[in-house]
Amino acid sequence: MSAPAADRRIRALRSPKPAVDPWRAHGSILEEERRPGGCVERALTIFLAGAECSFTCSFCDLWQWTLAGPTPPGALPRQIGGVLQALEGPWPDRLKLYNASNFFDRRAVPPEDLPAIAGLAARFAGVTVESHARTIGPATATFADRLDGRLEVAVGLETVHPTAAARLNKRLDPARFDAAARFLRDHGIDLRVFVLLGAPYVPAAESVEWTVRSAAYAVERGAAHVSIIPVRGGNGELERLQALGHFAVPTLTQLEAALDRCAGLSPAVVTADLWDAHRLPACAACRDARLDRLRLLNRAGGPQPPVLCPRCSPA
Ligand code: SF4
Ligand SMILES: [Zn+2]
Repeated sequence: MSAPAADRRIRALRSPKPAVDPWRAHGSILEEERRPGGCVERALTIFLAGAECSFTCSFCDLWQWTLAGPTPPGALPRQIGGVLQALEGPWPDRLKLYNASNFFDRRAVPPEDLPAIAGLAARFAGVTVESHARTIGPATATFADRLDGRLEVAVGLETVHPTAAARLNKRLDPARFDAAARFLRDHGIDLRVFVLLGAPYVPAAESVEWTVRSAAYAVERGAAHVSIIPVRGGNGELERLQALGHFAVPTLTQLEAALDRCAGLSPAVVTADLWDAHRLPACAACRDARLDRLRLLNRAGGPQPPVLCPRCSPA
């Protein structure tokens, strides 16, 4: 099936997109984040409302947070300014601008807004944006130069499982990822990487192994931080793949196992994305203890004492 036909099929299975206000950010969160070397940063993430990503990855559900058309010029500075104005307490170290798309896509982030965005980010020591590896290039380096702080770009590697990577409809091969990683390193820009747990077409029994291999691959190419994202169902395409036996919802214990095994990748920081993690299939008797342990692993790194559950831990 050609890529445009796959795009059409994936989009046709989506539920209607909710209305999104281009002048208000979806929200923000202030968190403590471990960085390589052991320091802990206060990071403010702003979830921006903007144009939908031009890619159509089979596992993605971010489109539901995006506009029907391009981002209007002026909207992103207004959204960011609104969140920063409401900020209380000590100023955070890092600003993460997550737009559910690609920051260097001109339709998602109008180029004329970049100076204003850099101005709003001037008080942060670090700024993180997200981008597909294919939209990293000269505009990325120009934006890094505009910032007072250091730029970090978060890139989805997703999986290095060859069959799965080729079938994610992401239009990303290892050479393209490697070129993006090299470009960032050569321009003094930090690399953060997203890898999936439970990528479609990765056999469930090998899921943890491929997540760990994908994280190791990212670290070998210079990632200072890797975030493990358990694939969330619900976008229509994943339910189609599940019915065909090509996708299984990852479990909480798989997420814990993957994070435990990634402790060996230190000094790179590997964390688990715990957004919605309480909904992952898990043993009811120890779910909360495991979520607490995952939060501890994120905050402090590993190893950490295991959760011993009378119901599900081996005797
Ligand atoms: S590149 Fe990122 S935002 Fe775009 S469809 Fe893929 S996962 Fe979603
Ligand atoms: Zn249990």
